[in-house]
Amino acid sequence: MPRKRDSQHGTPQFRVPTPYSLLPIPSAPHATPVIFSDFDGTIAQVDVTDVILAEFADPAWHEVEEEWVEGHIGSRECLKRQMAMVDASAEQLDALIDAVPLDQHFAEFHALTRERGIPFYVVSDGFDYVIRRVLRNCGVDGELLNGSHLFSSAIQVRGRGVEVDFPHWPEVCVHGCATCKPEVMRRVRGEHRPVIFIGDGLSDRFAVEEADVVFARDKLLGYCREHGVACTAFETFGQIEREVLKQWLVAGSR
Ligand SMILES: [Mg+2]
Ligand SMILES: [Zn+2]
Repeated sequence: MPRKRDSQHGTPQFRVPTPYSLLPIPSAPHATPVIFSDFDGTIAQVDVTDVILAEFADPAWHEVEEEWVEGHIGSRECLKRQMAMVDASAEQLDALIDAVPLDQHFAEFHALTRERGIPFYVVSDGFDYVIRRVLRNCGVDGELLNGSHLFSSAIQVRGRGVEVDFPHWPEVCVHGCATCKPEVMRRVRGEHRPVIFIGDGLSDRFAVEEADVVFARDKLLGYCREHGVACTAFETFGQIEREVLKQWLVAGSR
């Protein structure tokens, strides 16, 4: 069964165009918030990459995960090594992705941000192919699907393996991120304030430094409490919707 592939040592053969270059730069200061959200464990109720690895990868992926949790390697090296252990067909991957449970309030929340003109971006160490398929399944469309508001790692299924790429950005950042969330936020937020971040995990700990308002759960909530980062605990996008409406939309419409 072919498992080891050499693609992670070579030059990736594909590269996704950098979406931020397509974005209009806001010309005047205004008080519209901008929202950045993690995907796995935040919009999706599970970490899809972990589910893929648990289902289709050599169990040695857990050892690599430990190295990341202990801070010996960044998420970019972690994902590169783990995804090289995946042995699955495109059909198997698609079936797994189609069973991913979502926050049931997310589609409504996303529709509200579009209606109110609040820019909404997904920033994720996870993979574009997975995220687009999950979002399409729940009826989300627009900028998240065409790529201009989605900043993630990239994946291509080749035979029974996958090739990964990190288009945001090819240079590794100081944290070793797969997708450097704080860097995306600095480049994209423009004049929008407050900068709102929503997340759940360890890969979000650098992002909260760039946010004015943080909604957190699970590991990120623990991290924020431990490090004195102000945040609001949340369980669903329904709660976030009520908070956002209460604090910014109502105030802004007076
Ligand atoms: Mg997450
Ligand atoms: Zn980084």
